[in-house]
This record gives sequence, C-alpha cells and structure tokens, in this order.
Amino acid sequence: MNRDPLVIDVHGHYTTAPAALGAWRDLQIAALTDPSVQADPKALRISDDEIRESIETNQLAKMRERGSDITIFSPRASFMAHHIGTLETSATWAAICNELCARVAQLFPNEFIGAGMLPQSPGVDPATCVAEIDKCVRDYGFVGINLNPDPSGGHWSSPPLTDRHWYPIYEKMVEYDIPAMIHVSTSCNACFHTTGAHYLNADTTAFMQCIQGDLFKDFPTLKFLIPHGGGAVPYHWGRFRGLAQEMKKPLLQEHVLNNIFFDTCVYHQPGINLLTEVMPVQNILFASEMIGAVRGVDPQTGHYYDDTKRYILATPNLSPEQRFMVFEGNARRVFSRLDAKLKAQGR
Ligand SMILES: [Zn+2]
Repeated sequence: MNRDPLVIDVHGHYTTAPAALGAWRDLQIAALTDPSVQADPKALRISDDEIRESIETNQLAKMRERGSDITIFSPRASFMAHHIGTLETSATWAAICNELCARVAQLFPNEFIGAGMLPQSPGVDPATCVAEIDKCVRDYGFVGINLNPDPSGGHWSSPPLTDRHWYPIYEKMVEYDIPAMIHVSTSCNACFHTTGAHYLNADTTAFMQCIQGDLFKDFPTLKFLIPHGGGAVPYHWGRFRGLAQEMKKPLLQEHVLNNIFFDTCVYHQPGINLLTEVMPVQNILFASEMIGAVRGVDPQTGHYYDDTKRYILATPNLSPEQRFMVFEGNARRVFSRLDAKLKAQGR
C-alpha cells in the first residue's frame, strides 16, 4: 500500500430527503385508518434537482469538509418503521425509499453507493423481502442491505436472528455476497429511546443471539455489520467471552468473528480507543452515520461528535497499515460488490 486510503463510510442514511417524502409517508399512514385519504406512490414527485440539492448541501458538503470519499447510503433508518401497517405498507414504502437512494447513487456515482431497506413487517415471513433484495442488487447495483431484527419497533416479537425464520434472507445474501447491517428502526415502546437505547440494545442483542446460536455453521460466508460500534459488545468483551465459554461455544474468534463486523459510529475518542484495542482490526469498518442521530458539536473538542475520522486518525492503537484497513481495506473485503464497482471505476 503506497497511497492514502479511500475513506469509505459504510453507514450513511438519506436523512435529508426532500420534505415531500415525509409528507407522502404521512398520507400513507393516514390512509391506513381513513379510507378517504389516497396515498398513490405515483403522486410522489421529487426532481433530480431537489435530490442534488439535498445531498450537495448536506452529506456531500460534510464529506468534503471532513475528508471522506464514499458513503454506503441507505434509507433513513428511523423512518423504516416496519411496525406500521401491513406487508403491503412496508413494501410500497421500502420501494419508494430504495428508489430514492438509487437515484442518489446514480446522480453521484463516485461518492454514493446504495444499500437497501427491506419491506419487513411484524409476523410476516421474511421470504417476502427477497424480491426487493433482487431489485436492489440487480437493478440498482446496491452493495448491502439493512436487516431489522425487530420489525415490531421495540417489542421483540420475532425469533432471534439465528432462527430458520430468517434463512430466506440469508440465502439471498450469500447468493449475492452482500452483507447486512443489523439495524432497527424507530422505537414505539416508550421504554426505549430510539437512537439512545433501542439502537444500542439491538446491536448488543444481535451479537448475543449470534453467540447463543450456530448460524455461521449453516452460512459460513454470511456477513453481519453491527453498527454503532457494536453497542455494548467491545466494552463487555470479557462478559461475552466468558458466557460463550460457559455455553461450550468455540472461541469467539472462530465462532462469530469471521462473520461479524463493527462500525466506528462511536462519538468520542475513548470509545474508539477501546473499540480498536479490544476488537481485531480486520473486524472494524469506518463509518460516521452522518447526518444522523447526534448532530451537535462536542464542547470538549470543538468538533462534531459524528466527525469520526478524527478519532480514527488520533487513536494510538492503529498503525498506518491498520488505518488503511479501517478506512478502506475492510470495507472492500466485506462489501465485495463495492470493491468490484470501485475496481471498475479504476479505484
Ligand atoms: Zn444508522
């Protein structure tokens, strides 16, 4: 490696989509209970210029300011709200949101590449998501999906991720060699703040489910990205190792770490220092989730909390080769379709 790494941010959402999108969703939700309301997807019109502006003045401006090159871009996670309505509600909504991300990737082919949300719905067979995955990969060139382990929105009514319930999605993921970011959506349980509790709980829960099960025996090439720095996982690594030992599971390195990866959406230096000290470097992928849940400036540093590149550059735990892995190498390995696309672009 004799060049600077491409800085690939594997966790970005279209949180700045034009207001017409949210207004259409409001109509769709109103139509569930009020038959006089029409929510026709064809009535939603968003122009290329509106999309361009929403990106250029937000995510792209910040990428240039902070020095990141490419963002893997998926629909706004808290808006997925799979608990609302029926499968049909989610199917229409996912199709709209994915198409918008595909248009962003088309308008900015060097900076954005898509990842899809799934039309999940509580109690519905995940096999119903397969057609949308096919479309996202084949038609839109998406390189990953976001999988919600709790489409009920904070009530956890689905089986664990290791259950055969989820296998139709995993079979597709393996076929296309795409990873899933394990990402819940908004919490409709008042006990769980969406981004402060539900997200981090879900990250931790997904990891523990994988320890308890033997999913990666059935799918040795399946890849999960656990976002938000892995929730409580790095901090409680000793607990997880000890529990696995008591359950007579193999060492976590072979049991789950060939398949599970963590991002760097941890918004302070000591957190990144811990993550990079505890986790093998090949399991850490750069991400910021910008523009997302935490948008302010940290008064202790004078920098945005979600300007995570600074923490990677400043941590004493990484050599230049290891930084290259975090910024670029690991993302290209985990998102093999991104790697192929970059190679086709001569990058
Ligand atoms: Zn996210």
